[in-house]
Amino acid sequence: MEKFDVVIVGGGPAGTLTGWHAARAGASVLILEKRQEVGSPIRCGEGLDKRGIEKIGLTPSKKWIAHEVKGAHIIAPNGMKLKLTEGQAGNEVGYVVNRDVFDKEMAKLAIDAGAQLRVKTSVVELLRKDGKVNGVRTKFMGKIKDIEAGIVVGADGYESQIGRWAGIDTNLKPKDMFSCFQYHMVNIDIDPDYNDFYLGSCAPGGYAWMFVKGPDEANVGLGVQGTKLHKRGDVKRILDDFVKSVPGLAKGKAISHIAGAISACAPLDCVTADGILLIGDAARMIDPITGGGIINAGLAAKPAGEVAAEAVAVGDTSKEFLQKYEKGWRALIENKLWRNYMAKEKVTTFSDDTFNKIIEAIKDADMSQISSLELFKAVQAKYPELVKDFEDLLM
Ligand SMILES: Cc1cc2nc3c(=O)[nH]c(=O)nc-3n(C[C@H](O)[C@H](O)[C@H](O)COP(=O)(O)OP(=O)(O)OC[C@H]3O[C@@H](n4cnc5c(N)ncnc54)[C@H](O)[C@@H]3O)c2cc1C
Repeated sequence: MEKFDVVIVGGGPAGTLTGWHAARAGASVLILEKRQEVGSPIRCGEGLDKRGIEKIGLTPSKKWIAHEVKGAHIIAPNGMKLKLTEGQAGNEVGYVVNRDVFDKEMAKLAIDAGAQLRVKTSVVELLRKDGKVNGVRTKFMGKIKDIEAGIVVGADGYESQIGRWAGIDTNLKPKDMFSCFQYHMVNIDIDPDYNDFYLGSCAPGGYAWMFVKGPDEANVGLGVQGTKLHKRGDVKRILDDFVKSVPGLAKGKAISHIAGAISACAPLDCVTADGILLIGDAARMIDPITGGGIINAGLAAKPAGEVAAEAVAVGDTSKEFLQKYEKGWRALIENKLWRNYMAKEKVTTFSDDTFNKIIEAIKDADMSQISSLELFKAVQAKYPELVKDFEDLLM
């Protein structure tokens, strides 16, 4: 049987970046991707935060940056617009990427560091010895093959089966699931310097976005909270209504459709078991407010790859040893996940009127000096009842 120190299930950013770090730490690494091509089909708005890219140790590249924006507009249900610079907007604002190229470049990083990648190879079962995960059963062109692993990494995305098979609780409540639909639209009238985010009932419980890909093209989509959907096809219908309601978009044409889902839950209690760890969407690491998951996956990839390599090197891949990974990823992203989860729990209850009041209260604040605390104070001064529940989060 073939054997690798680290076998990674999933060739998305979580898997390839974990593979990159594990290979750099000296492990033999195999990444398995069930699709025939890494990065395709795309299921992403393709927005990335510039500082996030730096934090995960990547050099921005013209190969995968489709467009750069100066900032974002936050648009209230009554049409009032708040203009934020790229620095103020933070998450998922700065670059709009070509995700298919980005994912392939991440795979190349891992390969250049020594990892192997096999596409069209599905993991269909976990192998165990003495109750501990020690490999995977794969299927390639109808042929079954077992591969032994020092440690298995579940980077198999939102619909992760690896976590479930390993007995790790990754279940989501309907209120923490968001169904998304997106069009890549062309021939639209937009301000290409700004990504737009629309709040309120245009996207019940979530928001609608427009990530600019060029002077007259953008990814236009929205996410709706699971509890606010009633029948199949609802999300597409809501997106169609939204597109019709925005004059600059209504005249455009869609050149692709994307359906997908994201989690917006509290950080999981545990993402490890004997011989296995989870990362990225499989470990529910998506930011509960923005829905962005690439940067968090990239941040967690360093401790994941390094701890996986170390665990195999010292011959201890027990859940106890993997607490080092739990501590590592939690130190990097857990506080923000918690804070944004608490904020999301509140924001999903806001009415259109509340959003209108918030944007109105902060639109005249000094945006050159803006911080969450100043935004909070501006809203508090005008509508104290709106921020009562936020005091603990922002002070
Ligand atoms: C509509 C939408 C818009 C989004 N917009 C943004 C955005 O603008 N910015 C942002 O940062 N994030 C965004 N996200 C979230 C982002 O796409 C994910 O957080 C990111 O892809 C997570 O990477 P990952 O590697 O964990 O999972 P994925 O990218 O989903 O990769 C998992 C991989 O595992 C493979 N796989 C699954 N099962 C198996 C198996 N059994 N065997 C082998 N391979 C397997 C899959 O084929 C897939 O390639 C969006 C998500 C959606 C749905």
